[in-house]
Amino acid sequence: MPDARPATSGRRPLISGNWKMNLNHFEATALLDKLRYLVSKDDLVTVEVSIHPPFTDVRTVQTFIESEKVNIALGAQNCHWEDAGAFTGEVSPAFLAKLNVRYVIVGHSERRELFGETDESVNRKLKAVLKHAMVPILCVGETLDEREVGSTDTKVTGQVRSGLAGLSAEQVGAMVIAYEPIWAIGTGRTATTEDAQAVCASIRVTVAEVAGAEAATTVRIQYGGSVKAANAAELMAQPDIDGALVGGASLEPEGFAQIIQFPLSGA
Ligand code: PEP
Repeated sequence: MPDARPATSGRRPLISGNWKMNLNHFEATALLDKLRYLVSKDDLVTVEVSIHPPFTDVRTVQTFIESEKVNIALGAQNCHWEDAGAFTGEVSPAFLAKLNVRYVIVGHSERRELFGETDESVNRKLKAVLKHAMVPILCVGETLDEREVGSTDTKVTGQVRSGLAGLSAEQVGAMVIAYEPIWAIGTGRTATTEDAQAVCASIRVTVAEVAGAEAATTVRIQYGGSVKAANAAELMAQPDIDGALVGGASLEPEGFAQIIQFPLSGA
């Protein structure tokens, strides 16, 4: 088995494919069928992989990975904070848990920017996901304007603090935070590895302040923003980057498989 980076950090990398509003349930099955032949069982032990399909595909993907015994975790892209009620068009975290969803993306910048999600609603959703024993992936990140005026750190650590408000140290230590500079999402632009590492390190310091040193040691921090096979290994080699949240490149099985296999590229 390849020698993966956890030797130094002890944190198993998590590569998450966020399909956004792409691939219907037939296309989802076709992609997963290709992906499972491109990655080996060992690849999926070294690196943890989650797939976040559109809601209409979740049951189909669940059936596929469970019946074919594919070691990929089922994920969702969002959820409501209530279990049930008069919330037309929303999706219950309780129902996702019933489908064996393990990871739920919360506060993706597209939800914050296009659908008005606030730090407060993000915090409520995190608590709802945790209540149902699923793992939240809390997304944080700055706009280009914020980066240019030097407020990246303030914005990102502020989002981390409000996201984590009221959570226990144990909950924080078991969750995932994705640092996604908004200007790098879907644009082909990636933060330099140094910049990505610096912000992820700052997130870890903030987690230590909010939830203690142990939680900061175990929390996994992903980088997201135009991750592809060509830059994955270098990003993942950074001491505070424990995986990637991948959008566009997760829609293409060959490229996504190569990202999953980043430990083999020896960067
Ligand atoms: C994302 O959807 O979170 C993302 C990082 O997208 P992309 O990889 O396409 O930039």
